[in-house]
Amino acid sequence: MQVADAIVVGGGPAGSTCAWKLRKAGLDVLVLDRAAFPRPKLCAGWVTPEAMADLELEPNDYPLSFMTFDELHLHWKMFTAKPKSRQHSIRRFEFDEFLLQRAGATVLQHKVREIHRDGGDYILDDKFRCKYLVGAGGTACPVYRTLFHDSNPHSSALQTATYEQEFAYEWEEPTCHLWFFDDGLPGYAWYVPKANGYINVGLGGMAEQLKQQGSNVRDYWGKFVDKLRKRGLVRCDQYNPTGYSYFLRGTVDAVSDRNAYIVGDSVGLATRDMCEGIGPAIKSGLLAARAIATGEEYSVAGIDKISGGGLPSKLLERRFAGAP
Ligand SMILES: Cc1cc2nc3c(=O)[nH]c(=O)nc-3n(C[C@H](O)[C@H](O)[C@H](O)COP(=O)(O)OP(=O)(O)OC[C@H]3O[C@@H](n4cnc5c(N)ncnc54)[C@H](O)[C@@H]3O)c2cc1C
Repeated sequence: MQVADAIVVGGGPAGSTCAWKLRKAGLDVLVLDRAAFPRPKLCAGWVTPEAMADLELEPNDYPLSFMTFDELHLHWKMFTAKPKSRQHSIRRFEFDEFLLQRAGATVLQHKVREIHRDGGDYILDDKFRCKYLVGAGGTACPVYRTLFHDSNPHSSALQTATYEQEFAYEWEEPTCHLWFFDDGLPGYAWYVPKANGYINVGLGGMAEQLKQQGSNVRDYWGKFVDKLRKRGLVRCDQYNPTGYSYFLRGTVDAVSDRNAYIVGDSVGLATRDMCEGIGPAIKSGLLAARAIATGEEYSVAGIDKISGGGLPSKLLERRFAGAP
């Protein structure tokens, strides 16, 4: 049996941030991830200045692909707005590996399946034992599924469905474009250029609304890539997009129980206007680590539910999450 003070299940931004701070607090930390890092992660890779600050990472000190946009190009029907809004793009393949290595924890490739309590400890798959257990396994997190599903059920009305691809491409336009509600999509599509000749294009929509329309996020792909071609943004003959799903922030915030904690997408923390999940994942990782290290209460109530930043957040929140 391998023993650690804390086991973090999942090495994405939520888990690596939590592990990093727990290591700094002097705990012996083991991160278990089913994937071998660096691993692909479906994500447009848009990161806010606030998330970088939370990571105590100066853009100039980040050694991998990094790009900054000083305005966003937002399209809705025939209208285009260009709000000033400083944002960054990274490649998750690189970013997540960088953060996980920086955390300084022991990392093992292992898919966690079974979790039970033994006295005050947690046992995982009869192989690992810890006092503190952090669930950072994203949408399919086994810690959430085993210990939090009943107290913090994800609402199907807040589930997003996405379809996207990141690939090497010598893009010409260094601008981040977002197209809202095209052809009735209950969501938006994106074009996000990355440094070092990569690009991410994709679209996402609210899964339940798509179902009610009798459609699927994949149905919108053809028209979307046609638009990219017509605008001269991407000329690609063969795409190979993939889908993933995650949850926007709901109203139930049961996130800790007897030394077990959930963070990031396992809680469902993505913002209700822009579906931004990296920043909230990082913040929750920091808060969970602080709670473990100091004994103070862990709460995600203070993490913003909207991205804001010059975007029409009220309108978007109403369309995506059905704002109260
Ligand atoms: C297509 C798409 C585009 C997105 N674009 C953006 C964006 O531009 N900006 C933004 O802020 N957010 C974006 N998001 C949301 C963002 O990607 C997530 O909110 C963020 O990755 C959450 O981080 P996390 O650490 O909680 O989970 P993850 O990054 O999903 O990490 C979870 C980890 O847990 C591991 N794991 C899962 N199950 C197990 C198991 N049983 N045992 C061991 N390990 C396990 C996985 O391998 C994974 O490494 C996007 C999401 C999608 C799907």
